[in-house]
Amino acid sequence: MYLPPAWFDRRAPSRRSVLQGLAAALAAAMVSPRAAFAAGPEPREVAFVHTHTHERLSVTYFADGSYDDESLAALNWFLRDHRTGDEHPIDPALFDILHELRLATGTASPYQVISGYRSPRTNSLLREHSSGVASGSLHLQGRAVDVRLADVSSAALRDAAIRLRRGGVGYYASSDFVHIDTGRVRCW
Ligand SMILES: [Zn+2]
Repeated sequence: MYLPPAWFDRRAPSRRSVLQGLAAALAAAMVSPRAAFAAGPEPREVAFVHTHTHERLSVTYFADGSYDDESLAALNWFLRDHRTGDEHPIDPALFDILHELRLATGTASPYQVISGYRSPRTNSLLREHSSGVASGSLHLQGRAVDVRLADVSSAALRDAAIRLRRGGVGYYASSDFVHIDTGRVRCW
């Protein structure tokens, strides 16, 4: 707690000056949390439920100004290629986009994950069965995720993602999901 130096110097402070000093100290204490808040960025959270594995994960992956390694490791595992079990580091900037989108949409739901990391084997398998799968997909680099929300339409999620201008945004209306990636800003 901050106390004005002049207050200490008084040998016999009057009751009034003591109260004034306390008031000043209290005022300083009330201001300091806000100052600390401005100095370090706010914690960032992300919550997922996986549509294929049915696993759930909710973590504060960024706090006190840095990414939390343990949370990122849990997220890497969560977003593994569910077909092969292959794990790949996921770009933390992807979680930042999802965190921003959570705030922007006001959702109270976890993101439903359709696809996270994709191994080369899975990607070529999917390409054989779908025309919408790119050969150089950012899913292969751990820089993309396909998601939907229970309480926000995929069209509204797409619009919010486009407004954010933080990477690629793909809208798949028939499958009802939005592709989000940390590549250059573009949409389809
Ligand atoms: Zn995708």
